[in-house]
Amino acid sequence: MIILFGPPGSGKGTQAELLAEKFNLYYLETSEIIVANLRDAKKGDFIKVKGKKYFLLEEKKLRESGELMNPPLISFWIKKKIKELAKEGKGIATSGSPRTLYEGKEVIPLLKKLYGSKNIKVILIELSEKASIWRNSHRRTCQLMRHPILYTRETAKLTKCPFDGSKLVFRKDDTPEIIKIRLKEYKERTFPLVDYFKKQGFKIKEVDGEQSVEKVFENILKAIK
Ligand SMILES: [Zn+2]
Repeated sequence: MIILFGPPGSGKGTQAELLAEKFNLYYLETSEIIVANLRDAKKGDFIKVKGKKYFLLEEKKLRESGELMNPPLISFWIKKKIKELAKEGKGIATSGSPRTLYEGKEVIPLLKKLYGSKNIKVILIELSEKASIWRNSHRRTCQLMRHPILYTRETAKLTKCPFDGSKLVFRKDDTPEIIKIRLKEYKERTFPLVDYFKKQGFKIKEVDGEQSVEKVFENILKAIK
């Protein structure tokens, strides 16, 4: 079980995918779970968590504005998925989850119970605000699987996804204003998780995200040894 976190554009999704491939882990991606659950949402659809109704189209609007969706709903979906995976005996690599203190407090105890503390590695990929904004405004994803394609010298000229050949497009939520909101959300709502992890007895390994994908991956492999 490997948990990656870092600001938007730190490449955590790509790294989680590489780790999943190398160690045969399931790549648990919050945004994929969200997209799957919102795909067929119709007006009035809701999910009830702990007695409160969360309307899916309202959640969709939050997401499109760059704000984080309501943590109880996300936690509900993530925990459901984690339980399914644990039941199948699958290891997990995750990026972007948990992303709020609320989610952390919901998800981490479950992970500890299902996987054991010593089997959970936490990596923080560090990236400056400037680099985050620059990378996000140049980032693309593929149409078919939403693979994130970081903007690097190697990928600058790509027009098709290296994994499945589908077209690369800019993300709708990657405008400069929305990127700033996402960064603010990260600093105010996700970053406090670092302290929570530490209090839970986890050692957090920091990796410099301002390097090439290969170099970051190398450093992560060293960090989880
Ligand atoms: Zn793809």
